[in-house]
Amino acid sequence: MTATESNCIFCKIVRGEVPCKQVYEDDQLLAFHDIQPVAPVHLLIVPKKHIATLYDATADDAPVLGKMLAVAPELARKQGAQDGFRTIINTGRIALQEVQHVHIHVIGGPDSLGRMIARKET
Ligand code: AMP
Ligand code: ZN
Repeated sequence: MTATESNCIFCKIVRGEVPCKQVYEDDQLLAFHDIQPVAPVHLLIVPKKHIATLYDATADDAPVLGKMLAVAPELARKQGAQDGFRTIINTGRIALQEVQHVHIHVIGGPDSLGRMIARKET
């Protein structure tokens, strides 16, 4: 195990060393509620394997990354996002990625989230 993995909060959650409000688990993935939700539904889907950022993912990680997206709609629906949700992956400094372990945010609820990218009126 690398130092990064031993210190990584999401690896600790995967190993059961830190508690989480889990909503899904399989051999490759774990999904749980974000500790600081920004909407009524705010889940995080993480690979069990430590991948620090999307920059660090390789072609070998394509199946697990695909599965993370594939489980998102069912988890969103089950948690109450019936009419849409937003998926976000923050990567690196520019996106203000806080936890250095790849994760998909699944955000939704009854109300519109508003536009993520505000465009100037033309
Ligand atoms: P990001 O800025 O994309 O790296 O987002 C990291 C997310 O992880 C934030 O929304 C945090 O609220 C969330 N987070 C941090 N620690 C925990 C934890 N122990 N359990 C659940 N969510 C967490
Ligand atoms: Zn990790």
